[in-house]
Amino acid sequence: MPGTPTPLCTALLIDGELVEGCGPAEPILNPATGETLVRIAEAGVEQVEAAIVAAQRAFAGWARTTPQQRAGVLLEIADALQRQQEQLACLEALNCGKPLHLARQDDLAAAIDVFRFFAGAVRCQTGQLAGEYLPGYTSLVRRDPLGVVASIAPWNYPIMMAAWKIAPALAAGNTLVFKPSEHTPLSILALAPALNALLPPGVLNIVCGGGESVGSHLVSHPAVRMVSLTGDIVTGQKILQAASRTLKRTHLELGGKAPVIVCDDADLEAVVAGVRAYGYYNAGQDCTAACRIYAQAGIHDRLVEELGAAVASLRFAGKRDADNEIGPLITPRQRDRVASFVERALGQPHIERVTGAAVHSGPGFYYQPTLLAGCRQHDEIVQREVFGPVVTVTRFEGLAQAVDWANDSEYGLASSVWTQNLDKAMQVANRLQYGCTWINSHFMLASEMPHGGLKRSGYGKDLSSDSLQDYSVVRHIMARHGEHLE
Ligand code: NAD
Repeated sequence: MPGTPTPLCTALLIDGELVEGCGPAEPILNPATGETLVRIAEAGVEQVEAAIVAAQRAFAGWARTTPQQRAGVLLEIADALQRQQEQLACLEALNCGKPLHLARQDDLAAAIDVFRFFAGAVRCQTGQLAGEYLPGYTSLVRRDPLGVVASIAPWNYPIMMAAWKIAPALAAGNTLVFKPSEHTPLSILALAPALNALLPPGVLNIVCGGGESVGSHLVSHPAVRMVSLTGDIVTGQKILQAASRTLKRTHLELGGKAPVIVCDDADLEAVVAGVRAYGYYNAGQDCTAACRIYAQAGIHDRLVEELGAAVASLRFAGKRDADNEIGPLITPRQRDRVASFVERALGQPHIERVTGAAVHSGPGFYYQPTLLAGCRQHDEIVQREVFGPVVTVTRFEGLAQAVDWANDSEYGLASSVWTQNLDKAMQVANRLQYGCTWINSHFMLASEMPHGGLKRSGYGKDLSSDSLQDYSVVRHIMARHGEHLE
């Protein structure tokens, strides 16, 4: 179990100063025990205002730095993350309840790599050729930063989400006000002193607090030019409404309900291992979680049986960190929400509990890893994002039906198809309306590749050079000149 790194940092970062918030103090919990770790004062309205003004002031200087200079700073941030990685992994484990060994191996490693990737990517962007597209005029295209970006993050991967948002926005030459989730501010606040030492005042500001208090002030402020949110669909809708008043650019990464199409000829062992790992990773609090299985009739029964046994063997809430594979839900509210989804599902006579389906007795906000079979396409549990350790299985006969069902969803973030026939895999993958489709895998991300959704999963890309484009604007410069040299 992770010990508490002391002292816990509680200061916000505003205009180059580490200051305590002057709003109400809110408890920060350890979801693995339910204990209060610390109380952190939210940013007051005047502090949010000061952060935005500082970012606005810092923009002129930061926007004029060269890609080489910004890359240098991003590499230094990656080094700082690396130096602090043990402390940050411990904080991530404490504040999210996730196993420490996974926070180290996955979250921290990914966050460091993202800063390194964007340091390289910003130095080798490509674009349209300059040239004479009208006689007597030379055109060239620039990519310029937007100004102040408000970045608003969720609680499921706090340091990784911070990296996804901060690195491309800074690389593109913007200044930021970053707001972590009100539930999980500890890791970014612990990194704040190092960030402050590396960046000019005002380039990156960090304010803590709730969505309705601090977040809504950020998204409605006229000086903020872009809002980037990873969060719930309802939050995305509120942000769009607020942003429309000043026509801000928005970058929304919202929920998911990933279909997993398992064909008769799939490698059953690989499917079972894949769904056991990636349907339940982070206790299913992942927008790409492999949570909605469509299993073809010929493999369905064996899959339900073997997956049921595999899911029942998932280890959690043990005393030794190394033994745990998943953590708790983030809050009692989230755990109860998951429980109520499962309760309603099991109220349907056709849905069968294969394993789990109960709140774990003992401290913390754990919910048993759950597998439900016999689910039908229009069941709530198949249609709505649970964001917990719950996977459903639905039987299908023909692949066309599976593709129709997979696409019959409000969401469009991630999907996978499992078959040993490449022809079939490609035909299915090409028809799926999802930002990402894995073949014989699920969940894997690479910093070089775009991550983002369609439909109500939002738009805008994280990771990859596509993200640099989202955080910048294309401008055309056209010079008139003569056509004949004297
Ligand atoms: P949430 O929408 O409740 O909160 C996300 C952030 O938005 C928080 O910082 C919150 O304070 C802020 N917020 C809430 N209301 C706001 C408002 N009115 N104005 C401004 N800010 C506001 O989401 P969550 O519960 O923290 O995270 C879970 C959700 O995030 C899930 O739906 C999940 O699918 C989604 N998610 C998506 C991705 C992705 O890449 N698409 C990744 C992770 C999580």
